[in-house]
Amino acid sequence: MPKAAILTALEQPLEIHDVDLDKPHAGEVKVRMGASGVCHSDLSVQNGTLMGVAPIVLGHEGAGVVEEVGEGVTSVKPGDHVVISWVPQCGECYFCQRGQGELCKAADASLASGGLLDGTPRFSWNGAPLSQMAASGTFSEVSVIPESGAVKIPDDVDMKVAALIGCGVLTGVGAALNTADIKKGDTVAVVGCGGVGLNVIQGARIAGAGEIIAIDMNETKLQMAKEFGATATINASQGDPVSQVMGMTEERGADVAFEVIGLGPTIDQTITMTRRGGQAILVGVPRMDVMVNIPAFFGIVLQEKTIKGCWYGSSNVQQDVPKLIDLYKKGELKLDELISREISLDQVNEAFDAMKTGEVARSVIVYPS
Ligand SMILES: [Zn+2]
Ligand SMILES: [Zn+2]
Repeated sequence: MPKAAILTALEQPLEIHDVDLDKPHAGEVKVRMGASGVCHSDLSVQNGTLMGVAPIVLGHEGAGVVEEVGEGVTSVKPGDHVVISWVPQCGECYFCQRGQGELCKAADASLASGGLLDGTPRFSWNGAPLSQMAASGTFSEVSVIPESGAVKIPDDVDMKVAALIGCGVLTGVGAALNTADIKKGDTVAVVGCGGVGLNVIQGARIAGAGEIIAIDMNETKLQMAKEFGATATINASQGDPVSQVMGMTEERGADVAFEVIGLGPTIDQTITMTRRGGQAILVGVPRMDVMVNIPAFFGIVLQEKTIKGCWYGSSNVQQDVPKLIDLYKKGELKLDELISREISLDQVNEAFDAMKTGEVARSVIVYPS
């Protein structure tokens, strides 16, 4: 019986309980978790910004070791180390066939249902089905996930680092390398310097950006942004960030601007600080009632701006996970530095509190091996 952190109802602290876990069905694998990051999206399910079917095992940013495989599984075997992809990419649907696996049709169903690809979870608790967030549920010592959600990695990669790749790193670095088209020497602005924002910054650095302007209201995060590659910082609590970006770019605006918070006003600011002909990339997950308020003619058409959403860093996980591990091993990608705290599963609520105060890059749950 694995121990898991369960959200029983909206706005409630997570509860740690022993849960039942079914064997992997055909096309599924059982993974013993090595580590799980505590991501803002977990908090978003707790507070209702993101949909979740309670009771639910949260956690979607994990890595572990395959313990058992279901019928027909060929890509991984027991003993393999894997990063968990919370968008299991089927490889066969309309989107996967067109190189947009992050939009996989099969994955959509599991996001909405709280189950795996067939809509049912493998966890149960007190005899009733227990949902698993994003076909993952990494706040559990053991979980069963779709085969396509288990991405094999070399055995020598630290589990904590591997876990972070599964969400924050794929999303942030992917936003810069995949979703956006950053040209050498471009001026990039990043609004929001939390765990994902820092990864956008290092992705922009790897893409060859000339100037990277980090924008946040938290001075500690701005200092970290510099370590990850920001060449200038703006503390948005001290004056309008849009006019400051204009001032730094001969009143043109940034070639590429990223929004990594998910708030209406910062989304509008990000689009506004993008130069004529530039790209505004929306990465942060807003509440469902948030609208974009930009004048269609003067703000978009005349400006020829591209406004592009970004889901899971437009990642092809089978290609991008090994690529990111490579960059990490070469020292180009900072991953250890993203971890601000290592905790045990029963400290998960403290990690949520830390996120609410905006102080940490990432708390990572380390499971006993
Ligand atoms: Zn996440
Ligand atoms: Zn697909």
